[in-house]
Amino acid sequence: MKIFRIGAAAGLLLAAALAAQTPAERIVVIDPGHGGLETGAKGRFGNLEKDITLAISLKLKALIEKEMGFEVVLTRDRDVDVPMETRSAIANNNKAALFISIHANGAVQKKAAGSETFFLSLNATDEETRRLAYLENNSTELQSRIDPSTDNDLMMILWDMAQNAYIKQSSRLAEFVQGELDAMLGTRNRGIKQAPFKVLTGVACPAILVEAAFISNPDEEQKLASDAFQTKVAEAVYRGLVRYLRTGE
Ligand SMILES: [Zn+2]
Repeated sequence: MKIFRIGAAAGLLLAAALAAQTPAERIVVIDPGHGGLETGAKGRFGNLEKDITLAISLKLKALIEKEMGFEVVLTRDRDVDVPMETRSAIANNNKAALFISIHANGAVQKKAAGSETFFLSLNATDEETRRLAYLENNSTELQSRIDPSTDNDLMMILWDMAQNAYIKQSSRLAEFVQGELDAMLGTRNRGIKQAPFKVLTGVACPAILVEAAFISNPDEEQKLASDAFQTKVAEAVYRGLVRYLRTGE
């Protein structure tokens, strides 16, 4: 594992530094997947993942702020490119209590359907999940072309450890959110999965990635593009969040 390259002493120091951080429990960071030139997956009717993730995220922000009084910070509030590490940096700089990344799924198979919620693991649960993580991680092509310097490499290792500390809470949050998606959307429940999503690795708080439905499936694309379905997704994520907070850390 990469972590060993920084040595045990540095690892302990980092763990201590993370433990000393007292997150402002009232800030939730919502991450609308993709944006700008990086469109994400595209549906056959021309709908783009980046637009749907933004629409759902804006609805979710409004709900959380209105109903819970939490402050919500978006990683983007319009159609712009945001590098992966900027997304997690926004969470960490704001000392976020939770990080929720919103996506719409894409598959070669037109029939693939349903919703699923991920939390971070360096190992993907199955081949299909590995493929999805690869697609999401590499959708920012410019990003993947940046040569990591030694410093960047070290940062990535530290940030991997940052998310490792929250895996238990992240999986619990994923469970509640997926449960509500299943109850509200009437789509296939694909369950909770673990995958090495880059956008989650650097986040120093419980973090999940929601794939609301398949934009590559024509039926689900039309749902995803509709205001009613977007509202349902936002409502489901919100309810999952409430249940997570109610049952404690
Ligand atoms: Zn995506």
